[in-house]
This record gives sequence, C-alpha cells and structure tokens, in this order.
Amino acid sequence: MTTTTFGNRIGGSVVDTGGSRFESVDPAHPNDVIATFPISSPDRVDAAVQAAVSAQKEWAKVPIPARGELIADCAGVLADRKAELSDLIAREAGKVMLEAGGDVQEAIDMGYYIAGLGRSSWGSFYPSELANKICWTTRQPVGVVGMITPWNFPIAIPSWKIFPALLAGNGIVMKPSEFAPLCADAFVDACVTAGIPAGLINLVHGFGDVGAALTQHPDVRAISFTGSIETGRLVASAAMANGPRLVSLELGGKNAMVVLADADLDLAADGAVFGAFGTAGQRCTSTSRLIVHRDVADVLVDKIASRVADLTVGDPTDPAVEIGPVIDTRAIDRIEGFVKEVVADGGEIVVGGARVEVDGCEGASFFAPTVVRGVGRDHRIANEEVFGPVLTVLEVDDIDDAIDLVNATEHGLSAAIYTNDISVALSAIDRIYTGIVYVNAPSIGAEIHLPFGGTKHTGNGFREAGTRGLEQFSEVKSVYIDYSGNLQRAQIDNRPPVGD
Ligand code: NAD
Repeated sequence: MTTTTFGNRIGGSVVDTGGSRFESVDPAHPNDVIATFPISSPDRVDAAVQAAVSAQKEWAKVPIPARGELIADCAGVLADRKAELSDLIAREAGKVMLEAGGDVQEAIDMGYYIAGLGRSSWGSFYPSELANKICWTTRQPVGVVGMITPWNFPIAIPSWKIFPALLAGNGIVMKPSEFAPLCADAFVDACVTAGIPAGLINLVHGFGDVGAALTQHPDVRAISFTGSIETGRLVASAAMANGPRLVSLELGGKNAMVVLADADLDLAADGAVFGAFGTAGQRCTSTSRLIVHRDVADVLVDKIASRVADLTVGDPTDPAVEIGPVIDTRAIDRIEGFVKEVVADGGEIVVGGARVEVDGCEGASFFAPTVVRGVGRDHRIANEEVFGPVLTVLEVDDIDDAIDLVNATEHGLSAAIYTNDISVALSAIDRIYTGIVYVNAPSIGAEIHLPFGGTKHTGNGFREAGTRGLEQFSEVKSVYIDYSGNLQRAQIDNRPPVGD
C-alpha cells in the first residue's frame, strides 16, 4: 500500500510535511502504514491559534444564516464522499463498514441540522419590569475554540464540535487523535472544499503534549474535549490553570442495560448484542453491564450467547464482518487484563474470553465478543470502563435493585431498560441518573438533534449535539434597551420607597 505524507493545516496551508513523524496504521493490518503525520511541537499550536484568531475576526462578521449555508455545503461534500470516508474509517479506526457509514452519516446529519439552526432563534425576548424598555438575550462567539478528539468516531465527533463552533462564529484549532489523523484531515478537507475560509479550521497533529499546549494557550477561549476520564481530568485542570475559559468534557461511560422479567427477551438479546459488541465495544455508550432479573437471566444469557456465536469477527473492510479489531495492542492488553482478573476471581466466561486470530490480519488485535457472569457487584469489571467487547452480567431481584445498580457507578452516560410495562419504564426514566436513557432499545444509537452527554464523571454538565451543543462554543449576552428617555432604575423606580 502507498504511504502518503500529511502535514498540519495552519492558516489555510498544509505545512510541516517534513521533520519527525508518526504513523497512522490500519488496526486490522498493523504493518500497513496508511499515512504519516508530523509530531508537532507546542510552537505549531501557537501558529495555528494565531491563524485562527485572525480568520475568526472576519468570520464573526458573516451573517449567521450565511455561516449555516456554508456548513450545509460541508455536509453536501461529506455526502458526496460518504463511500470513500467510510472506507477510510474502516481502515484507520477498524470500524466495520456498516458502522463506518453510520459515522459519516452522523456528520452529514449534523451539518444539515446545524445549518438549519442558522435560521433559528438566537436568543429569547423578555418583558421588562419597567415601561418603555425591552430585553433580550443573544449569543456571541468565544473567539478561538481548541478541540481535542478521540479516535472512535473519527468523522462524527469532529462534526459535533466543528459545525456548531463555526455557526457560533468561532475560529478552530483541532488536535485529533493520533489513532485517526487521516480521518480528521479528510473531514477538514471536505470543509475546505466546501469553501470554509482559509485559516478558520486549523489542524495540528501529534500526541498528548500538543493537546496540553492547546489546552493552556492564552488565546484559546474554550476547550472542547472528548476522550477518557483520565485525560479529561488533566485537560480540565490544565485549562483552568491558565483560565478562565469554557471547558467542556465528554468522557467515558459504564453503561447498563436493565432487562426485567416481563421483557421481550429476543428483543433484549438483539439489543444487548448490538449494544455490547457494536464497534467492538469501543463506544462511550457501549452496553457494558447487563442487569437482568434473576428469573430470566439464564434464558436471556443463552439467547445472547447463541447470537454471539454467529457473529463474524474479521477485517472490517469486508462488508460481511460484524466485529472488527480493537484499536491497538495496548487496548487488547487492557481488555484481556479485565477478563483474566474476572476468571482469577471466580467469574464464569459464558462465551468468548480470549484473543482471536484472523487469517490475513496478522498482528492485529481481535478480542472475541465476551460475556461474563458470576461476578460480584464491586468487582472492577462491573465498575470501570472496559472499552472493548465484554459484557458483564449482574442479576437482580426487582426494579429497585436494578436502578440502584445502574446508578452505582461513577459514570452516567447512557442506560437502557427493557420492559413491557409502561409505568415501570416511565418510573425508571425518572430514577435513572444518566444523560441518556433508552426504553426497549440498546444504550447506543443517539440521534444528533438531541443533547448528548452524561452525568457524574462522564462530563462536566455541557452537552453536545441538539440545540444545547451550541452552548460550549458561545456565550450568552443579555441586552437591555431603554427607550423611555428617562433614567429608569430596576428594582427601585417601580417600587414604593423604603419607609413609606
Ligand atoms: P484519550 O483520552 O486517550 O485521548 C483523547 C485525546 O486526548 C487524544 O487526541 C489524545 O492525544 C489527547 N490527549 C492525551 N493526553 C492529553 C493531555 N495531557 N492533554 C490534552 N490532550 C491529551 O481517549 P481515546 O482512547 O482516544 O478515546 C476513548 C475514550 O473516549 C473512552 O473513554 C470513551 O468512552 C471516550 N469517549 C467519550 C465520548 C463522549 O461523548 N462521552 C465519545 C467518544 C469517546
């Protein structure tokens, strides 16, 4: 395969095509280098930020609906390139073709949705407590937004950040994951092709130190981070050390699916298999805990195990393959570590539990879709994010026990409940403390026009997507206009004087 040399995108030019470099490899064929990218130093971040500062000044003058039209054009280019981008995701991030297509479609949908918001209300109108005075709110850009992204939705996640940030009138510097730099470059290339002005979206490649430099740059007014909890904590504290600035965090999950005794067990088994093993379990919303009523646990686990036996593990570019590799050897070591620990602690492997060799994919990291049971609720595997194709079964006696268990972890991203009792479902929605809840559907599958994010350690209160997705990229401004021609004092002139 031909290796291509890529650079940073700074100020509308592709630069840094020489110097020290890192390789982007195909996780299904780790010896195939797809492309090389610069290992940037922090001064490249500075150059990119200065380019974004200057481009943003002009961009902020563009009427918001016109910004939206340009974003719609970006979505159009992504749609034209859907097949090639899907193929790229499969090769660089190891996602199976069907899900790679979903990743691109999410970005297309986000583009058209955000474009539409360009003609929506930009604030609210309020009555004043005083006569001949009006008040409203509007949104103002923050200036330059720094974005740090993970590898697992390498086209969709940049779209969740870049499109709303652009609509809000910002300049952008993005540090993409070192595991999916080519997808990030392809995304920005689509935006440039659509006509996004030079220097507005800057891309600086490299490792954590580049992200750290972006986080601390004094001219970056907002940081939008998606990734692991460990890195998110570093980002938040570093950003605020040189702050103040907006810092939005979208972090890991430990998502649960509750299956009650009255549920449709075939539907639940289908949901558990897609929720736990889609994207080889490497979604922030992957179903990681199956919390099942004791009376139906054996039947449900058997149904899941028989479906898992039919899953095809292999090269993700083969459209027949349902489970691709995990991202690298470090990831498979971590996943295997969880599973070995469970076995050592007396847990039962129902299905899977080991690495898989795939012909033609030598050196790749495939882990068999795995179901474990017989594990205590306090076990590490029942509480920490595995980020791999491993489903842990926990049994409960009733709905109260189930909800306590859903809420027992420090993660609060997504949860699902399977039941045919509408009252139980509605009550569970009220009591489950996560950012997303599904009924009779797995914990994955968010739609872009609803807010996305989690409670507790999954984030810091911001949401991406939906109308709330704009909040991390803009600041609200309250406006008061007095046309009375007199000095009118709020809280004073419309009240009797104290002492009367
Ligand atoms: P990661 O935390 O390892 O890396 C994310 C990004 O942070 C990368 O670009 C990396 O280079 C950068 N980085 C590393 N050290 C840094 C530092 N000190 N300062 C600034 N940036 C730094 O995450 P990952 O392995 O790429 O992604 C998987 C994780 O992301 C999982 O935990 C998953 O749950 C989470 N995730 C969350 C969401 C969500 O919306 N909640 C979505 C997707 C993924």
